[in-house]
Amino acid sequence: MSRERGISGARPRSYGRPPDQLRPATIEAGFVRTATGSALISMGETRVICTASVQESVPRWMAGQGRGWVTAEYGMLPASTGARKQRDVTKGRPDGRTVEIQRLIGRSLRGVIDFSALGERTIYVDCDVLQADGGTRCASITGGLVALRLACERLISEGALKRSPLTGTVAAVSCGIVDGVPLLDLDYPEDSAAEVDANVVMTGEGGLVEVQATAERTPLSRAHLDELLALAAGGIESLRGLQEETVAAATTSS
Ligand code: UDP
Repeated sequence: MSRERGISGARPRSYGRPPDQLRPATIEAGFVRTATGSALISMGETRVICTASVQESVPRWMAGQGRGWVTAEYGMLPASTGARKQRDVTKGRPDGRTVEIQRLIGRSLRGVIDFSALGERTIYVDCDVLQADGGTRCASITGGLVALRLACERLISEGALKRSPLTGTVAAVSCGIVDGVPLLDLDYPEDSAAEVDANVVMTGEGGLVEVQATAERTPLSRAHLDELLALAAGGIESLRGLQEETVAAATTSS
């Protein structure tokens, strides 16, 4: 795909999209049959497998309280980037970026879970990046929510849960400022050229769960921050629709 600059000087975007458009997004439910719930999310060339696996116990510090827990792990497969990425297991420890990302995913998903309704069980949401082209942490949250919802639906259909422990939905998208222009859903070439890079996590009702914005070269103005949040809100609304469609289709067909 040509990324030559146009006559206007603006950087052409992948898929010929305007500044406020997401990359083509799809979520395939049930991608991993052995998991309680699963989804393969694609945001353009970024692809992440999200699985939700249920364990009928909680960490020791939570035992006996009748409450459950949701935790997340994140990893990039070796061939998910241009240069092979060494596995954490080979290095002997996860790197700082991995730890930061998996905490963000876990916090975002726990924000929409009623732990009492979940009972004394833990749901592990594992997000494995098949192909990374920017926005993998955001795709993990959006796809992770679908895997988590499908796992909860399965627990209900099996009689293990009376009602869903989900109190709402959550999705995330990246945005940033490239050559002075606020853009939604950055791919890797945009991400690596961005003056400002942001990740926005929102509930389905539009409540902000987490906003991470980093001004790499020039400070971020309040006006630009507002523009980025407005772009993110539009993108997250579309992603919420995609999540709903995916879960509805998967639960009526099963
Ligand atoms: N990336 C990479 N190797 C790494 C980390 C990141 O190739 O070890 C690339 C990858 O395409 C990723 C992008 O840089 O999607 C942006 O990385 P960032 O840390 O901002 O996280 P992300 O945007 O994927 O959530």
